[in-house]
Formats: sequence, structure tokens, C-alpha cells
Amino acid sequence: MKTVIIGDFQEKVDQLLIRHRSILDSLSKYQDTNARVNRAVTKTVTTCGCLTVNATRQNIPKDATFRDYKQYMDSHFQGNLCENCREIIESKIGDNLFYLAALCNILDLDLDEILIKEFNKLSTLGHYNLT
Ligand SMILES: [Zn+2]
Repeated sequence: MKTVIIGDFQEKVDQLLIRHRSILDSLSKYQDTNARVNRAVTKTVTTCGCLTVNATRQNIPKDATFRDYKQYMDSHFQGNLCENCREIIESKIGDNLFYLAALCNILDLDLDEILIKEFNKLSTLGHYNLT
């Protein structure tokens, strides 16, 4: 399988996107595909059952530092994705990435540069960037 670089992906999206080239269509398709990712994850619990959710209040000791939080934070998910759910979620995330790239194309933004800037920001600021 060929390794796809983000710039190649963005260029391919530009070549293939015909119907939703309007900023309004791309914005709404991006939002729609994001909702479909959420729906696919939800259905792992409500339809398939390969995952369950047991959500409770996060239990973080009062004396824990922000750096310690990760060890106390629970995803509230239990189980493992079955192959079918994994395939569906990957497909929905791919659709979402397609419209993210389309949005970048319309706005003349370089997704590769955005990813590099974000990576560098995370690397430089670390945890403090996310508080
Ligand atoms: Zn499943």
C-alpha cells in the first residue's frame, strides 16, 4: 500500500471534489461527516454492543497535579472494537478527513502546514497548551 502524505491527500480531494465545492456545502458536509463519526461510535454501544459505556464522575485526588491527571482520567469505554465497527468508524473518519481537506482547499489552507504547526505547538507547549 502506498504511503499517503497529507499534501497528496489534500490534492486528491481537490481533484475529486465536484459537487460540494461551495464553502457552504463543504462546511455542512464537514459537520455532517463529523456527526456520522459520532453516530458510528455511539452504535458500537447501542447497536453492536462490542463497547459499553460506564460513565461516572472523574475521580481525581485533590492533591494531584495537572501532569498526574492522565493516570486518573477514565475514557468510560469498556471492551474492544469489533472488526465491523472498526471498519465503519475508520470509513466515517476518512469521510470527515475528506471534507476537512476540501475546506482547506476552498480557504487556500495547507493541511500539512497546519498539522506541522499544531505538532510544533504541542511539542513546545506540551500539557499547558491543552488546559
Ligand atoms: Zn462492534
